[in-house]
Amino acid sequence: MESWQQLLRKRSIASLDALAAKFGPEHFPEIERLRQAAENFEFRIAPAMVDLIESPEDPIWRQYVPTVQELEVHDGLVDSLAEDANSPVPNITHRYPDRALFLVSPVCASYCRFCTRRRKVGDPEKIPLSQLESAFRYLEEHTEIRDVIMSGGDPLLLSDRRIDELCRRLRSIKHLEILRIGSRIPCHLPERITPELCDILKRYHPLYINTHFNHPRELTPAAVEALGRLADAGIPLGCQTVLLKGVNDDVEVMKELMQKLLAARVRPYYIYMCDQVAGAEHFRTTVEKGLEIIQGLRGWTSGLAVPHFVIDAPGGGGKIPLLPEYVEAISDDEVVLRNYAGKRYVYKQPAAETVLVG
Ligand SMILES: *Cc1c(COP(=O)(O)O)cnc(C)c1O
Repeated sequence: MESWQQLLRKRSIASLDALAAKFGPEHFPEIERLRQAAENFEFRIAPAMVDLIESPEDPIWRQYVPTVQELEVHDGLVDSLAEDANSPVPNITHRYPDRALFLVSPVCASYCRFCTRRRKVGDPEKIPLSQLESAFRYLEEHTEIRDVIMSGGDPLLLSDRRIDELCRRLRSIKHLEILRIGSRIPCHLPERITPELCDILKRYHPLYINTHFNHPRELTPAAVEALGRLADAGIPLGCQTVLLKGVNDDVEVMKELMQKLLAARVRPYYIYMCDQVAGAEHFRTTVEKGLEIIQGLRGWTSGLAVPHFVIDAPGGGGKIPLLPEYVEAISDDEVVLRNYAGKRYVYKQPAAETVLVG
């Protein structure tokens, strides 16, 4: 049987010419300008995603096929989350009091054109794996860090041996209570979620995986099976979805996605507003659209299917939650609330300092 490495190497689409040959050159009238987009940010579409594209411009295509819009910058920022400014040592971003982001892999199976880290992902010189020692030392010295999030690039594209070593090293740091991995591999390359990988990961509990699905069609039978293998290894699974114009900016699409994730044993965790990233601005939609989606989920389907809707604030403010307006008025006496269906309800505040007489 073909290994996942061979599969990725042989069956991915990794050049614009191969893409045009597969889908027809008529869909790429500006191929010469597109080369600049593919030059600015790595291009590859993993086999499972190639197979999932039904037609040009569909929600799968839009996530991976470069467009000339990537070359237009309006108010996009190169490092919109100021990750590099909050980086005390290479590969670490330490923004929150008790947790840190750790970039452990420069590469992905497919490169999402809306990538927030497109300034460095795909480039092993910008996410160097030769100097992880300073990152480990930082994590060792900062005893306030109790949660480390491995990301990249995609950590699960590392070899089994490397993943094992990485987790073992992190587990030797006593104050790290939980390990997390952020990975789109269950979607992009489900064959990589081998029983051997699951056997390695489950030795390092508590270990959480946050995966990334953006459209219900991505939950293919192979992806669902891969998620099942991870869940069977006792790994709690979350999903971080990005709100993307022309992909999932629709209540019904998002509802179906969240329901399918739950059925695949994945608890939706975040819906992100698309970051204000240079090269990815054409994916952005309005904040109101995100609020409309949350309003269309809450109450209308399982509460378990309703993630937090957040903006990761430009400039490094971190994730800020947004909620539709359910509180109409609040006073010392009562709160006027609006339920999911728009009906009004009143909750009485507890009486202030009642004096008991007698
Ligand atoms: C998202 C993120 C985290 C983790 O945030 P949670 O809300 O705990 O999931 C940690 N560090 C950085 C820099 C992040 O961007």
